[in-house]
Amino acid sequence: MTTHTARDAARQRLEELRRLIEHHNYRYYVLDDPEITDAEYDQLMEELRELEAQYPEWVTPDSPTQRVGAPPAAGFTPVEHRIPLLSLDNAFDTEDLAAWEARITRMLGHKPSGYVVELKIDGLAVALTYREGLLVRGATRGDGRTGEDVTANLKTIRAIPLRLRRPVNLEVRGEVYMVRSAFEQLNQEREATGEPLFANPRNAAAGSVRQLDPSITARRPLSIFTYTVADVEGAPRPATQWESLQLLRELGLRTNPHVRRCATLDEVVETITQWTDLRHQLDYETDGIVIKVDRLDEQAQLGATSHAPRWAIAYKFPAEQAVTRLLDIRVNVGRTGAVTPYAVLEPVRVAGSTVSRATLHNEDYIREKDIRIGDMVVIQKAGDVIPELVRVLPERRTGEERLFQMPDHCPVCGAKVYRPPGEAIARCMGSACPAQLVEGLIHFGSRNAMDIDGLGPAVIRQLVERGWVKDAADLYQLRAEELAQLERMGAKSAANLVAAIERSKGRGLERLLFALGIRLVGQRAAQTLAQHFGSMERLRQATREELLAVEDVGEKMAEAILQWFGEEQNRRLVDRLAAAGVVMTAASQAREGTPLPWQGWTFVLTGTLEGWTRAEATKLIESLGGQVVGSVSRKTDYVVVGTDPGSKLEKARQLGRPVVDEATFRAMVEEAQRQVGSEVTPR
Ligand code: NAD
Repeated sequence: MTTHTARDAARQRLEELRRLIEHHNYRYYVLDDPEITDAEYDQLMEELRELEAQYPEWVTPDSPTQRVGAPPAAGFTPVEHRIPLLSLDNAFDTEDLAAWEARITRMLGHKPSGYVVELKIDGLAVALTYREGLLVRGATRGDGRTGEDVTANLKTIRAIPLRLRRPVNLEVRGEVYMVRSAFEQLNQEREATGEPLFANPRNAAAGSVRQLDPSITARRPLSIFTYTVADVEGAPRPATQWESLQLLRELGLRTNPHVRRCATLDEVVETITQWTDLRHQLDYETDGIVIKVDRLDEQAQLGATSHAPRWAIAYKFPAEQAVTRLLDIRVNVGRTGAVTPYAVLEPVRVAGSTVSRATLHNEDYIREKDIRIGDMVVIQKAGDVIPELVRVLPERRTGEERLFQMPDHCPVCGAKVYRPPGEAIARCMGSACPAQLVEGLIHFGSRNAMDIDGLGPAVIRQLVERGWVKDAADLYQLRAEELAQLERMGAKSAANLVAAIERSKGRGLERLLFALGIRLVGQRAAQTLAQHFGSMERLRQATREELLAVEDVGEKMAEAILQWFGEEQNRRLVDRLAAAGVVMTAASQAREGTPLPWQGWTFVLTGTLEGWTRAEATKLIESLGGQVVGSVSRKTDYVVVGTDPGSKLEKARQLGRPVVDEATFRAMVEEAQRQVGSEVTPR
């Protein structure tokens, strides 16, 4: 009798789990708007898998464990994948990995001859088809067998070559992603215009690719890493995954530099340990590490289940979440006067650091998530990302919890707080609010703006409190003797700060426009405007029509710019900046704001290159954001090999670092230069 009811209960839970997972699949894959975190989702899947293992007779072909993703959404033309795009099985610890190796060893009759370890990019899987070297189709994964035709959208991504370097027929798989910095900026812009925010860069990338209007995709900064050659004709077929990646690079496709060839599972585990930290330094999100059997004949022998290949496994990084109590909700006043609530938390350790604050975005966010002061909450922190409050745990309420009330008056200057109808953000109406001035100056001096080293929040606060600085132009009047009177500021740092302020005069119009903090004018827009108008004077005189004629400038931005220059105070600020000697024209190399394609990549050169001297190659690599170092280490991303290479080549092979010959290097250079829009400069 008891077993009967236990069975019934299990059956009920199983049905419930399937319903829940289907619902979350729909939110995630079709709407690009998940309601729960990936870790929570993975837990549901694990529970379902365990139940199904216990009652194998209940496994049906339509169970979420047997399927991939979700079918294509209405509005897109469906695409049948000739070779299905599968999901990956997960491993959460080294035991899971060992069990996986044991499984495939049994099937092969011996251990695999080696593995390739890659980062698992958290983006959107796409399939690209090239015919005789030309991109003819791009599709999403969909449910693995049928995806969506998003060719027009993918063509707007500059990292996807429209023509390969050789006229081959190619089926390639890759991951489209959005860099974190661009994602944050996109969300800031959406916040400012009251549009719903994306939960994470993955959803932003997916939402951008799955746009019915390609011009929207074009405006989103997306990139791609390719990782699988599904099929190729017209080039020698690779024999291993390692060679596949090499081929992709040779053809002009972008691959991730973090890849390692490992002979044994021990080496794989060592790599995982090393990379767990690495991911926080990357400007894109990764949710794990993919381990693949290197030899393609062994892969073929192992085959796939209905939803995942047997020859690969995804090691998932540990979740970076914790539960703690929300002690209070307070507000911050930003440089645009935005009054933003934040959470004061009982300190808790998560992802290697102690967290006691988390952002709450705005009032609606608090209402939607029904966040109450005193609640137990789930918070999330990944690397340097600002901690987030993911959700509350209503089941742990005591009845003592309080609702949050947005203050009517600015806690800094006492002016009224006003929330324009239809907007998400409440603003302090005090035009002389010191909080706005402080935040504005912090922004003005920040790295991507005027980049004034040493002008930190503590210094700015003192300058504002003493009344020495009332706007950004006042910074240029500061003298070292004055600065030396500030707390914790010696004569030397005062002199350094004056020098840094002096240097900032030459940053150019694109940085200056961004630094001024004109509403809706982010880094990208500032760059476009600077390039289009060339000088502050021409921008200031621009009419609405002239502004709207600029690519990427919409009604709202045009309005914001006109309003800004319409303000007497602002015009005076610009005049005073100009009088102080701040450059008001666009820099000739106007690319500083956007990340360069090789940002963070390390190169080692060995042997003689035909096209470049060592110094020229170094300069070239640096101009694309990369760095050249003298010796090969595990941190080296590429070893470029010319004729008569030295021992560095041997070292690179030992450490399993990617080795590229001159032709491939040239292809990489051309691709990167195409991305930044500059010219090819071989000798
Ligand atoms: P997956 O995360 O299980 O992994 C498979 C995918 O990894 C591949 O299709 C490919 O796109 C990608 N990938 C990235 N780098 C790769 C590389 N180097 N080599 C090979 N593949 C690489 O993908 P899935 O099946 O789409 O999704 C399952 C995951 O999605 C879950 O673990 C969950 O975290 C998340 N999810 C979340 C929700 C939610 O509501 N939060 C809902 C559904 C799915």
